[in-house]
Amino acid sequence: MRDDRSPLDAFVEPARPAPRRSRQAAVRWGSRLVTVGGDAPVRVQAMTNTDTVDAIGTAIQVKELAIAGSEMVRITVNTPEAAAAVPHIREQLDRMGIDVPLIGDFHYNGHRLLADYPACAEALSKYRINPGNVGKGDKHDRQFAQMVEVAAKFQKPVRIGVNWGSLDQELLTELMDENAKLAEPQEPRQIMYRAIILSALSSARRAEEIGLAPEQIILSCKMSGVQDLISVYRALARQCDYPLHLGLTEAGMGTKGTVASTAALAVLLQEGIGDTIRVSLTPQPGEARTQEVVVALEILQSLGLRAFNPSVTACPGCGRTTSTTFQVLAKEIDDFLRAQMPVWKTRYPGVEAMKVAVMGCIVNGPGESKHADIGISLPGTGEAPAAPVFIDGQKALTLRGDNIAAEFHALVENYIERRFGSKAVAPLST
Ligand code: SF4
Repeated sequence: MRDDRSPLDAFVEPARPAPRRSRQAAVRWGSRLVTVGGDAPVRVQAMTNTDTVDAIGTAIQVKELAIAGSEMVRITVNTPEAAAAVPHIREQLDRMGIDVPLIGDFHYNGHRLLADYPACAEALSKYRINPGNVGKGDKHDRQFAQMVEVAAKFQKPVRIGVNWGSLDQELLTELMDENAKLAEPQEPRQIMYRAIILSALSSARRAEEIGLAPEQIILSCKMSGVQDLISVYRALARQCDYPLHLGLTEAGMGTKGTVASTAALAVLLQEGIGDTIRVSLTPQPGEARTQEVVVALEILQSLGLRAFNPSVTACPGCGRTTSTTFQVLAKEIDDFLRAQMPVWKTRYPGVEAMKVAVMGCIVNGPGESKHADIGISLPGTGEAPAAPVFIDGQKALTLRGDNIAAEFHALVENYIERRFGSKAVAPLST
């Protein structure tokens, strides 16, 4: 049947539904407050891979991660020596003017380390407790309670972080046995999902009974499969209002790890699920640890959830432009904008939302450039050697000759000063 409605009658639904509203946890160090959940933006966190005993090396990496954009940084606390090093790491960071909150990652012996090293317990701003790794049998409940009691005493929030690689095997076995007795047993994978969620929720309830406020609890249920992670977090989000820490565990290296993390996190964040994220990339040889922060920021910025850096729109190039001029210019501008951001963040408020377009030919060049705050349409193969520049949607001038890249660079700087500087004026056409 023919539809007579005009396309203009069709209301286009916003792509993102209202976000899940969680409680809000507060992670503090000194005067620095990082809220997680509630109306806070989705927070970015990262984890060091240095030996925590190396206090200077760890403090330097924490600083690098913080400067890259990590709003909280997790460090391993696995031995008495590591626990003893934590206050020194904190002091070193404070001396460097880095007030990023530190999170202690505990497994197996966290109850002892937190009790024996109160300075460590105090220097950390948040603890991660894995309920699958706090001891077996009757030790499990006792040791879990000991850790939670320290958190309550020092008023620290806790992430109850379940990981399918270290899932509480006693709980899983119990659920598997129950399932086997059913007339129509469920798939083992379903039982594993239930065990992961139950481990998180029952541990959170237990932590509240011991004395933590619900606002001191953050949950995570990490899996390494994209579909598994999405299934578990959707169910978890329906069953509680604790803030959720999202991350695909053991995502892998390079493109694979980046794409898998992005695929999983994007689906959940788009559904409004997730209050803080960590991208668990395995660094490639020679790759900086900060790459995991770069990817996390890009995920949030691409989804339009937060803005961290001005974005450069560049076309992929094709047979219409056989020179690499626009690729080089796009990279130069992108590198330049990122390099300046640590200073610009305070000098030019709002610059992080700026859009720059660097396009390869007349087909989409002028159109895309008009959508940007400032854009350039470089000449494609066979086009006249002229590059129109668009500012705030209007054609402003045309660059010609051999110095187009440097001149455009200067125009971008000039635009930023004029638009976002202390004597900023409104954009030309908004
Ligand atoms: S803008 Fe031009 S050069 Fe760039 S991809 Fe499109 S057609 Fe190719």
